[in-house]
Amino acid sequence: MRNDDLFDRAKLSIPGGVNSPVRAFGSVGGTPRFLARASGATVTDADGRDYLDLVGSWGPAILGHAHPDVVRAVQEAASRGLSFGASTPAETELAELVKERVSAVGVSPIEKIRLVSTGTEATMTAIRLARGFTGRDLLVKFAGHYHGHSDGLLAEAGSGLATLAMPGSAGVTAATAGQTLVLPYNDLDALRTVFAERGDQIAAVITEAAAANMGVLPPDPGFNAALVELAHENGALVILDEVLTGFRVSASGYWGLSLADGPVYRPDLFTFGKVIGGGMPLAALGGRAEVMDYLAPSGPVYQAGTLSGNPVAVAAGIATLERATPAVYARLDEAAATLSSAVSDALEREGVAHVVQRAGNLFSFVFAARHPRNYADVQAQESWRYAPFFHAMLDGGVSLPPSVFEAWFVSAAHDDDVLRRIIDVLPAAAQAAASAVKPG
Ligand SMILES: *Cc1c(COP(=O)(O)O)cnc(C)c1O
Repeated sequence: MRNDDLFDRAKLSIPGGVNSPVRAFGSVGGTPRFLARASGATVTDADGRDYLDLVGSWGPAILGHAHPDVVRAVQEAASRGLSFGASTPAETELAELVKERVSAVGVSPIEKIRLVSTGTEATMTAIRLARGFTGRDLLVKFAGHYHGHSDGLLAEAGSGLATLAMPGSAGVTAATAGQTLVLPYNDLDALRTVFAERGDQIAAVITEAAAANMGVLPPDPGFNAALVELAHENGALVILDEVLTGFRVSASGYWGLSLADGPVYRPDLFTFGKVIGGGMPLAALGGRAEVMDYLAPSGPVYQAGTLSGNPVAVAAGIATLERATPAVYARLDEAAATLSSAVSDALEREGVAHVVQRAGNLFSFVFAARHPRNYADVQAQESWRYAPFFHAMLDGGVSLPPSVFEAWFVSAAHDDDVLRRIIDVLPAAAQAAASAVKPG
């Protein structure tokens, strides 16, 4: 197996053999697949084996891998120059496209946008901006939410830290950690208490629009709106992190989706990543002009980037967003509904206690009898059932996220034939989950 050799070799030159922790298969065991190429709903590893993919590069591959139109846009942009370190017309075009998409009946919460290269940069900048704008220091985040890997955001974070059961990261100073207040998700009373005690010091509340880095865990109906109201009453800003959900669960992200069955609310800042770059390193923050204009060079909050607004990445972003049509979102919703109920049926037949978690077309499963409302609930599940389930799917040619704490991603390339082939593997995986043995 070339994968084994490649992993052994990688470990000699790269810490843990990977450039991002979740890729290492740490919580499911076995050797991570080294990928050689991908097309549509399929990824191909170094041994030449194909897998139907439900990772989707953790979100960007909304149209399917290597969509020909996106690849062509990238090739054309590359042929005109890889990077200029100067402005290009396409950056404004992308900014306009984002503003237009993230709007709803009479509400356009995004007036200005700054392009950056990663979601981590987007949230990091949004926080600095909120502090600069309010003149306050403290930040409120929710346990189990992941906002990238900047120092202040790693406390009780989801994604790889949840997978590795790490409460935080070494190398973060006590002073920095002390400026982040971590609250249980979906707990408005905890939020009221913290505002009552330290309201005049809180610069911002940052929240995933719908949590999807501890598995999928949507906010209670009305939670985001109530959070915005409470923050604004106390002079704090709200940063809605749509790095994962933005342009994925709807054209206007989870924010747009949540307006359908709740009050209109207006976060001050939004962060985007993943889909907005269509597979290239591109992310953004945007929001009210009054706040965004605090960024240099128009304001006193510094932020910059050699590769910010990179022309090749912007071309991929525009090509992807333009093709993420209502028909694409309808297909994603349908695929998510079909697949999540098929998994649930398979687990049900084997008597495995579980619940399906959905936020639009994002979904995951919790091995527990009741829906979780926060990180503590998610951590209490029978997570040891996931590794055998995961490996049975992998053996059957389906690539799932290598952690129970991650969402599953479908794409426009997940047609009925692809879904049927995935569903065919489910009985074996459900049996593996049913016969899993609790460790210890
Ligand atoms: C992926 C993610 C980030 C970080 O983005 P990177 O591009 O990996 O730095 C931030 N917030 C959320 C909600 C994410 O899912």
